[in-house]
Amino acid sequence: MFAAGAVLSRRRASSELLRQLRRTTSVAPPQPPSLSTVAATADGIGPPPIRVSLTESAGRGVFATRGIAAGELIHSAQPLVAHPSPSLLDKVCYYCLRRLQNEASPIITSIPGENDSSKTTACYFCSESCREQSKGFYEVEKGLDWTLFDDHCSPRRVKYPLMVKRLACMILSGAASVDCLDILQPASLHTETLLEMEDEFQLLKDTFAKGQFKNDSMPFLTKEWYINVLARIRINAFRIELVAKTYEEMLTSAAAFIAADAAVGNAIYMLPSFYNHDCDPNAHIIWLENANAKLKALRNIEAGEELRICYIDASMEFEARQKILAEGFGFQCGCLRCSSGQFSTFMVMKMRVNLYWLVLPENFHGYTLRRR
Ligand SMILES: [Zn+2]
Ligand SMILES: [Zn+2]
Repeated sequence: MFAAGAVLSRRRASSELLRQLRRTTSVAPPQPPSLSTVAATADGIGPPPIRVSLTESAGRGVFATRGIAAGELIHSAQPLVAHPSPSLLDKVCYYCLRRLQNEASPIITSIPGENDSSKTTACYFCSESCREQSKGFYEVEKGLDWTLFDDHCSPRRVKYPLMVKRLACMILSGAASVDCLDILQPASLHTETLLEMEDEFQLLKDTFAKGQFKNDSMPFLTKEWYINVLARIRINAFRIELVAKTYEEMLTSAAAFIAADAAVGNAIYMLPSFYNHDCDPNAHIIWLENANAKLKALRNIEAGEELRICYIDASMEFEARQKILAEGFGFQCGCLRCSSGQFSTFMVMKMRVNLYWLVLPENFHGYTLRRR
């Protein structure tokens, strides 16, 4: 997940990966988890029309292997780890982050707090299938008392440690491998951040230790592992905002946006993390109903062209974009739009039209016809 023109030191891939990349100009997306479980084409047949290769100046990148038409679904991707926003635990599925509808009857289970029923956390699942799939972490999670860990995270409004907690539970139950995020680029961390992480790690470790998990049953759970994983989550996690499919959903989402609850959660993916940034992107990542991501072409893309997404709100001015990209992602953007210094109102309009058009065929077409 990097930008054209990013600062070189932030583009460094792991030494193992670099060796792999030097051997060949094109690498297949890593396995496992295999592409079949992480990404799929629209019809689920055959690999997506992309390859992951080394770019000239921005580390890894994703390239089209054939012409891709504007609006085409390039591929979809399931998260490696996802977690709902802490403030929406009773409003979205604990597994897939789908918004729970009034008419649905969510499956509710709970994670007890030790000797304190007021600390019980209810968990909602949108379907039996999601509850079944969540066993990969939930069976471990519900057997532990998370009071101290949650009490630490809630007031600080931190969300990424919750993803590490879920990943640790997945590893303990055998649903994920210890090194499943190692291929992703880590963020550089300040000393202050590292100290905070050490506190979080200790709380996480203590929570497991107080349960049935003793040190020898979880040798992976070291401070180094925690920091290693969190550094990758911090720079690669996507904030998931679902596209509204109905007028009512649009209003709900607008109200949630005002209340700062627009995101249903955060998730980390393998393939989408390899897309570099561009302030005038040719691809876009969207979420239609749950944490399964869809990568779509914003305009016609030629075979061999690099596919790039915009990590931030593309309508922002140059200075604001540079500031957020530097502070949030650690690079100075040198994309064509930034380096040209000029970006006409026409181009901003064009991007907005593109974004609208992107969701129109699947989400708004029926709606606009029915509701007009
Ligand atoms: Zn679900
Ligand atoms: Zn830029």
